[in-house]
Amino acid sequence: MKNLLEEKIRVSYGTAIVLGLIEARQDVAPTTAYLLWDTGCIGSCSFCPRANGNSRTQKLSRIIWPEFSFSRIVSLLSAQPRPFRRVCLQTGFNPEKNETLKEFAGILSNKGLNFSVTLSPSQTKLASELLEMGADHIGIGLDGASPDMYLTHKKKNWETDWPFLLKLIRMHPGKIEVHLIFGLGDSEEQFCQTISEITKIGGQVSLFALTPVNGGTAPNLSGYRRVQIFRYLNEIKSIKFEDFGFHDGKLSQIKLSFEYVLQQLDQGTCFRTSGCGDCNRPYYNERPGQIFYNFPRPLTSEEFKEALETAEIQTSG
Ligand code: SF4
Repeated sequence: MKNLLEEKIRVSYGTAIVLGLIEARQDVAPTTAYLLWDTGCIGSCSFCPRANGNSRTQKLSRIIWPEFSFSRIVSLLSAQPRPFRRVCLQTGFNPEKNETLKEFAGILSNKGLNFSVTLSPSQTKLASELLEMGADHIGIGLDGASPDMYLTHKKKNWETDWPFLLKLIRMHPGKIEVHLIFGLGDSEEQFCQTISEITKIGGQVSLFALTPVNGGTAPNLSGYRRVQIFRYLNEIKSIKFEDFGFHDGKLSQIKLSFEYVLQQLDQGTCFRTSGCGDCNRPYYNERPGQIFYNFPRPLTSEEFKEALETAEIQTSG
């Protein structure tokens, strides 16, 4: 096998700008360096342009990922002062590549970089191994929040993968970010129920809005704001699922006073990108100029007010 440092790796367009590999202006810079290594991905996620090993496209979600040599990227990432606070190695699903993936992680670890790796729900053993090797966090692409959506969009069996994921979270509390995509077809109630089951045992949730690059429709902003509020109050403020009311699958009420809820939402932090610390994923789900699903920076008070109004959520007084 050729030296890993000679391998090519993709980096997100915004990451490449920060590293000085592309000259362009960006309104919000990423605070995490996003790398993509999905050689030979055998996954067939409905929403992914690179599913089934389609390496013809340079896109993942709506981001372009140009390719560079791994050695060049590693040397830029490990320069002082460090250009990023975290590195996220995003991967495809191919168990035959596990050993190579571990070598990539070993190099990042030896350089003293703070890094996360994204994996599929069935790769829980590899997740534990990578954490032992020095990965700071592991992102797990569950994506669907119910057995039906998991089967429809990931072509995978929830009954097989979900129990192993729960076990992984229990083994590594505070270290596992479960990626969930709102807009695949789960109701708000189902979505929130799954968030609650994850957070109850020490997992964290990284929320995404469906980006319809492969078809489908982006979720309505009102529903997205509601699940953001739920995720924040449930995961960060430990407010229980039972304190929320649902009607026809829609999150319709928080059974707490408006003043209390407002205070807990921390000036709009609830609407910022969720996931590992310093992961802001700018423009991952929306084009520059569009309203952010996930704000990659603090909100202005006007933006917070508008986002709250968009959520159309009732409180108990
Ligand atoms: S939350 Fe962000 S940094 Fe963490 S694994 Fe997911 S994409 Fe990577």
